[in-house]
Amino acid sequence: MTKNMGVYLGIDLGGTRIQAARFTPDGVREATESAPSEAQGNADKILDAINSAASQLVKNEALLGVGLGAAGLCDPERGRILSSPNIPALNGFDLKTRLQGLFGDTPILMMNDANAAALGEFHAGAGLGSSSMFLLTLGTGIGGGFVANGKILLGTAGFAAEAGHMSIQANGPLCRCGSRGCLEACVSGWAIVRDAEEIARNNPDSEIARLPSLTPLTLAKLARNGEPNARALWEKAGTMLGIGIANLMNLFNPECVVLVGGLGKAGSLLVDPARRTWENQVFGRAHQSTVVKMGTLGEWAGARGTIQPYLDS
Ligand SMILES: [Zn+2]
Repeated sequence: MTKNMGVYLGIDLGGTRIQAARFTPDGVREATESAPSEAQGNADKILDAINSAASQLVKNEALLGVGLGAAGLCDPERGRILSSPNIPALNGFDLKTRLQGLFGDTPILMMNDANAAALGEFHAGAGLGSSSMFLLTLGTGIGGGFVANGKILLGTAGFAAEAGHMSIQANGPLCRCGSRGCLEACVSGWAIVRDAEEIARNNPDSEIARLPSLTPLTLAKLARNGEPNARALWEKAGTMLGIGIANLMNLFNPECVVLVGGLGKAGSLLVDPARRTWENQVFGRAHQSTVVKMGTLGEWAGARGTIQPYLDS
């Protein structure tokens, strides 16, 4: 039945992986494909990977529309990636024109990957049933998206809700965006690894220095085993995250704040100090009207969100 009605293709183009999925006309995920995004490679390789995933997912079905979420700032009108710190090969790349070459006359919609994840969780995940939601992606970088009454807040040029680059510490650590003290420079995967490397340099005999690889996952495991340096690292990151969440509650008073992304695997190591902080720092009683919870769509939130505008129309 669904086959005759056609399908949508949702693609989430992240710094490390391409997550592509086929959806029914009412937005149910039917099949998925995943491939490395060749972050260091060239744009043609990324296009090849998208093409290969698409041809696995859509064979005889009528393709109703393609949605694409891309890491970085994009110009959805012209379909150009303006700046993508995590996929440098795409900086200034005319992605939409090249995709149109692959998909012919099929409509293609582009959006920022955090906005895509926010639309996905709002319409099909943790935000289902709420009137407003702020989504924070806690991964290698930090992204944000705000949805109210089903619509994403874009701002005047499409850059709204870039929560990763709100400054939370004057003269804080240097961010990849060039500013200082951004939430991303204090809490993200790369920021936590940077802090761990500093501990390892200063304490060559520490357990952190002896870890075979420094990643948020290995550092979370060490902290759960009670290692004090690793525990302090997560306590600090969680506190900074709590400041960020308090700011978001003050600005948006959302019905829920949804956390997605790999750092969420640290669980209470990150969320407990964050909760203590936002409860202390929030203005008035704003936190009492907001529920903070984890996303439920996992790595497929973005792909689902990219096709939402088709379902709305
Ligand atoms: Zn920044």
